[in-house]
Amino acid sequence: MYNLVVFGAPGSGKGTQSARLIDEYGLYHISTGELLRDHIARETELGKIANEYISKGHLIPDALMIEILENTLDGNPDTANGVIFDGFPRTIPQAEALNEMLHKRGARVDAVVGLEVDDKELIDRLLKRGLESGRSDDNMETINERLNVYNRQTAPLRDFYITQGKYHSIKGSGSIDDIFNDIRNHLKSTRK
Ligand code: AMP
Repeated sequence: MYNLVVFGAPGSGKGTQSARLIDEYGLYHISTGELLRDHIARETELGKIANEYISKGHLIPDALMIEILENTLDGNPDTANGVIFDGFPRTIPQAEALNEMLHKRGARVDAVVGLEVDDKELIDRLLKRGLESGRSDDNMETINERLNVYNRQTAPLRDFYITQGKYHSIKGSGSIDDIFNDIRNHLKSTRK
């Protein structure tokens, strides 16, 4: 089992690079953002709760998010080869919970791909995406809040994973192919 966390600010290219990584490694993809947007589209109870947070650019509370992730992993045979975690963890308690969940399965986070892009480029990308995505959170006010939340709650995970020797810093600007090749080179040494 090989478990990869794709980490970075909103707009850093996590979804784009995850799609390439799925093709390359045949791993199961869990995007917590997509999962929540699917609930919102289906107007489930969880979707209604999630929308309150997402539309403001805030994070879903840890306990709820961890429960959702655990339910997605539990008894899911498609995760047997390993998972690409895209957008999870986003806080230290989530990272600790992930370590525990994987440990119970005799597995671990094998590597963290950290996509690093400067704020100006992030904002440009998110505004551009907002023109097409129809996402309620791709507008200037919510983008600013999401970047604040990222810096406050999520960025500390970088040090968390550096300390564990798992963090791979990747320059997330440039062509999609070049970024992907860089990731692939970094991950070679982490795969058995
Ligand atoms: P994303 O598609 O990854 O940019 O996520 C969109 C939004 O979903 C975020 O701004 C949060 O409101 C929510 N979300 C996604 N993943 C998480 C998470 N791991 N913890 C808390 N909230 C999350």
